[in-house]
Amino acid sequence: MTEAWGPDDDEPRRHHGPVRVRVPAKINLHLGVGPLRADGFHELNTVYHAISLFDELTARAGDTLTLTMEGEGAGTLALDETNLIIRAAKALAARTRVPAYARLHLRKTIPLAGGLAGGSADAAAALIACDLLWGTGLSREELAEVGATLGSDIPFLLHGGTALGTGHGEAISPILARPTTWHWVVAVADGGLSTPEVYRKLDELRDGSWPPKALGDADELMSALRQRDPEVLGAVLGNDLQPAALALRPELADVLKAGAEAGAVAGLVSGSGPTCVFLATDATHAGQVAAGLNAAGVCREAVTARGPMPGARVI
Ligand code: ATP
Repeated sequence: MTEAWGPDDDEPRRHHGPVRVRVPAKINLHLGVGPLRADGFHELNTVYHAISLFDELTARAGDTLTLTMEGEGAGTLALDETNLIIRAAKALAARTRVPAYARLHLRKTIPLAGGLAGGSADAAAALIACDLLWGTGLSREELAEVGATLGSDIPFLLHGGTALGTGHGEAISPILARPTTWHWVVAVADGGLSTPEVYRKLDELRDGSWPPKALGDADELMSALRQRDPEVLGAVLGNDLQPAALALRPELADVLKAGAEAGAVAGLVSGSGPTCVFLATDATHAGQVAAGLNAAGVCREAVTARGPMPGARVI
């Protein structure tokens, strides 16, 4: 239906593909979890940070909507209507009234159910890829609106960088700081943790006591980011979900301990876990901390990463 667009039209051009989009994982430098709202979401006050652990989605023109994949989770992750990539493509098609036809292929590196928002990252990639393939020409803000209906982290993964997230995480404000590269070690666990289960555990641990002591805003974290000193940043990293993740997976305490023993500036559970992330002073130090964690044998694999990274982008 959009094939009739000519070169003189103002309409965005349809792309015949392939369109390749790279999207980062996220960690939360600060994750303040507030009360459970009537709509079933917890109020969040979080600082998102995109790191150099990437999934890649390729979109080609097709007669139906199909998804194939390789890498992390292949053979485990459902590729049907439940996959966030298919849901994102369909939501974009519905919003823009085009047929949801594409052949999509995912190369996955971000571990499943790891607290790194891999599913949301893939949905963000699908929105960018299909928007270009179909020539629907939505702005990043419009794509974020479509994404927010599917997952709270999707607007951030379209945006990338380091940003404050409020509401249930979907309302994004960029954090303006002088460009600084932070060095991380990502300790990937065997197996995942279900995000809803971690939130349920947190509610149970809080046991109706309100307000919880741990709830804080992100002001300290944001001022630490501006100081560009890993020791200063390390001192204020925090995650209200960490006690719940540790209660469900006590062995994560061994990972945090091993990271500290390997010399990390600081360590914390990433989002809902079970991935743990550690701050290092520079790339060489990050390599040493990763080697220490790998030698301790407390996680599936420890890898180095940098941040902040841009959000989902065509490559
Ligand atoms: P979050 O912290 O955003 O809750 P997470 O990193 O803990 O996410 P994800 O890997 O994003 O976990 O996915 C959680 C669940 O979402 C998976 O177990 C899977 O059932 C479902 N899912 C749907 N589509 C995808 C996808 N493309 N990639 C990963 N998971 C997906």
